[in-house]
Amino acid sequence: MRRLACVAALLAPSLLGCIGAPSPLAPHLRGSVGLPHHGVVTEAVALPKKGDGYVLYRDDDVRWGSARLVGVIQRAAAAVVSSRPGGAPLVVGDLSKRYGGQTERHRSHRSGRDVDLLFYVTTPRGVPVRSPGFIKFSTDGLGATEGKKVYRFDVERNWELVRTLLSEEDVQWLFVARPVEALLIEHALALGEPLDLVYRAETVMRQPGDGAPHDDHFHVRLACSLDEMVAGCEGGPRWPWQPALEPLALSDAELLASLFEE
Ligand SMILES: [Zn+2]
Repeated sequence: MRRLACVAALLAPSLLGCIGAPSPLAPHLRGSVGLPHHGVVTEAVALPKKGDGYVLYRDDDVRWGSARLVGVIQRAAAAVVSSRPGGAPLVVGDLSKRYGGQTERHRSHRSGRDVDLLFYVTTPRGVPVRSPGFIKFSTDGLGATEGKKVYRFDVERNWELVRTLLSEEDVQWLFVARPVEALLIEHALALGEPLDLVYRAETVMRQPGDGAPHDDHFHVRLACSLDEMVAGCEGGPRWPWQPALEPLALSDAELLASLFEE
């Protein structure tokens, strides 16, 4: 019955204040709650400072996310290092704060579903090295630090990362600049990757229209799972390859009754 009440809350946000923080009046809200730009997260998990194939860029508290997000990051990093050994670790930027909400460096990253991943880079001669930070890349695949040290976009490993992330049904967006997307798609086509995979990549990779172009990192956002939607998670499209949502089999009367259940 609790599930029914939650579903009802999802459908009647104006009645129960579904958009907002968990409170004694809305105890069903949990996990990733609300929108990435206007949300919070409960039961968040901290991404350890380093693991198989990755390191955290900053040593602060903006490293909490839903258990699903933390799992996606860890699996993706491990997959890249296993398929392309001998490289440098993936450098992971911010997730969310422990309980989500506003962070100084982002407008989103508030509900435990967002993470920034720095690009894999090499030296100009192609030797993989650990990314020193947020380096802007353009269509030539070259970028430089403020100190003018030049790096090359490691298109092989970055594509491997994208490919792995796409194998997770829940990746909703990979925000990245158009020139960077073009490098990756060109590489995927040259490899002869299946066209449905390339289509998926083109669909989820998007240069945000209202913020930084993301020419210096990927910003990964997960879609809400069904369980999370029931518990207050909101926002964004669902793609055709994601599992279909179960239809709601409730009459209006049942729905209303469920609103007043314990
Ligand atoms: Zn971000």
